[in-house]
Amino acid sequence: MSKDGSAAYFTTRVDAVVNWARKHSLFPLPFGTSCCGIEMMATLCSDYDMARFGAEAIRFSPRQADLLIVAGIINAKMAPVLKTVYDQMSEPKWVMSFGACASSGGIFNVYSVTQGIDTVIPVDVYVPGCPPAPEGVLHSLIRLQEQIQKGETVAQRRERQSRAGTLKSIT
Ligand code: SF4
Repeated sequence: MSKDGSAAYFTTRVDAVVNWARKHSLFPLPFGTSCCGIEMMATLCSDYDMARFGAEAIRFSPRQADLLIVAGIINAKMAPVLKTVYDQMSEPKWVMSFGACASSGGIFNVYSVTQGIDTVIPVDVYVPGCPPAPEGVLHSLIRLQEQIQKGETVAQRRERQSRAGTLKSIT
């Protein structure tokens, strides 16, 4: 009831509230393998302060994280490790490909470097740059939050397909 006596209420859907809570409580797992990892640390520090977006609680265990941030070069030997870490994270989970090397192999067009982590695990958002500026990382984080709110991430699509019985592959 509002002050003037008129009824005041709002309606919503459960999935909208759940997605709103999810997007503001991300638990990142930093998978930093090279120079991009340093830029990721800068984004987490006080000047840029990723905590403002509810994503400051870094977790180094895949079972306690829901946002995998892959920052740096993923060589062929590291790719199975990355896949294992991703598989160990519980659903729903999200992936950020941080920088040119994670997204495409960057300048390392050689057999020993994975030419994009999306050949190994599904990616929700890419951050361009070598290394990306912290402003770009925050922009990508906001884009990811928008996707989570709309239910458009890979994990959320997988969840819907699983419920409908049309899920063909886990990745
Ligand atoms: S994108 Fe550039 S800064 Fe990032 S890991 Fe590759 S070489 Fe290093």
